[in-house]
Amino acid sequence: MSNQIKRPKGTQDILPSEAAKWRTVEDAVREAAEQFGFREIRTPDFEETGLYVRSAGATSDVVTKEMYTVSSTGDSSFTLRPEGTAGVVRAMLENGLMNEGFPQKVYYLAQCYRHEKPQAGRYREFKQFGVEMFGTQSPYADAEIILLASTVLERCGLENVTLHINSIGCPECRAKYREALRSFFLPHVEELCPTCRERLDKNPMRLLDCKSPICKGIAAGAPLITNYLCDGCREHFDALKEILTEYGVEFTVDPKIVRGLDYYTKTVFEFISQDIGSQGTVCGGGRYDGLVSELGGQQVPALGFGLGLERLIMTMEAAGVEFEPAKTCDLYIAPMGAEAQKKSALLADAVRRAGYAAETDLVGRGIKPQMRYADKIKAKFVCVIGDNELSCGEAKLKNMATGEETPVKLEEFMTGFSNLMLNEIFDGELGETIGRLVEGLEPAEEQPEG
Ligand code: ATP
Ligand code: MG
Repeated sequence: MSNQIKRPKGTQDILPSEAAKWRTVEDAVREAAEQFGFREIRTPDFEETGLYVRSAGATSDVVTKEMYTVSSTGDSSFTLRPEGTAGVVRAMLENGLMNEGFPQKVYYLAQCYRHEKPQAGRYREFKQFGVEMFGTQSPYADAEIILLASTVLERCGLENVTLHINSIGCPECRAKYREALRSFFLPHVEELCPTCRERLDKNPMRLLDCKSPICKGIAAGAPLITNYLCDGCREHFDALKEILTEYGVEFTVDPKIVRGLDYYTKTVFEFISQDIGSQGTVCGGGRYDGLVSELGGQQVPALGFGLGLERLIMTMEAAGVEFEPAKTCDLYIAPMGAEAQKKSALLADAVRRAGYAAETDLVGRGIKPQMRYADKIKAKFVCVIGDNELSCGEAKLKNMATGEETPVKLEEFMTGFSNLMLNEIFDGELGETIGRLVEGLEPAEEQPEG
């Protein structure tokens, strides 16, 4: 065992028993995004390093310490996607989607890679659901993406997640704020962590994001951006708050939220889970009106968010949300003998072509281990086929939940099996639903006696 290769630090194996959870949340986010009119976009898992340096900013955590950069032959340098927005903007520009009328609304599900210290809720490879909207200044757009994130969280069964919003202004109001921050932190420079000492000069807003308790303590008394917003930024922020209130979306204004990437302007927001400890930010996003032009396009206002699926699933687990079980097997055919195995394989194939899930023996096992296997895969029906069945041309379909056995002619196997499955479906949940609907349609009259 000791010389076996282990998975890299900060990565996860998602085993078959867990994969159904992932499917559940991936389906949920796709469905919500598409209902809001976002279309899927897929971009490469790696891009030219310069793209991330230009978008995230040379002083951001992502660029200074978290990028997985590989150089290939020649002098080009590539980086594994640390976040989704930069690649999407690049692709939209390169493929002319910005000329196809506004708003443009896209979403993605993408693996991201950051060289971070692994801990609960913080991985080196993780998956983000993200959305991006281009071409609108309206605070209704900011509210719409917040509403989408909130819809996703609600549909995933989460109540203990709070929305925190802030405005970090435009480059104009931010310049004044930066100066104010610098003067505030300067007398404390000796107490700050080494990273923050550097940040003080280059990007003092980043100090508000530091996780060191000492820096946090000092930052508690720092001036607030909300007092430095220009009229335009203030009006935008006030309008957003009003719209969210109208929508009934609860929020807290948190002037300490600055977000980790340099390209944000005006609105920033985070959804924070109370259930998963210190890495509680499930979703983060905001507006980045300067990014498209920074990456070589026109001046196009834009906004979006990224939602970490690992943290989403962790929060759901902590909240005791039940996940749908993975699809189980509809029919297990247990052959006994070589002739029967041939026949079973053909029958299983026909059953699958009809749209059901079917398995048969591939190991050459006796009947007992086969029945144990059928139990393990939770087969709804089991059919044993041996010499007897082959010679009389008839087998029994056993309903594993009730123990009931129904004879079927091998020649009419599909019809027999389909009928049983349809009965199952109509006797089950679907039948109940239809029953309720029909009852609802009928006038509520007393039935005559007899
Ligand atoms: P944090 O403050 O937790 O480092 P961030 O500001 O770096 O987050 P974003 O770049 O906004 O995060 O990414 C959006 C979302 O992606 C986060 O809210 C989180 O859910 C998820 N995320 C970010 N980094 C990681 C990571 N290393 N592992 C797992 N999920 C992550
Ligand atoms: Mg981070």
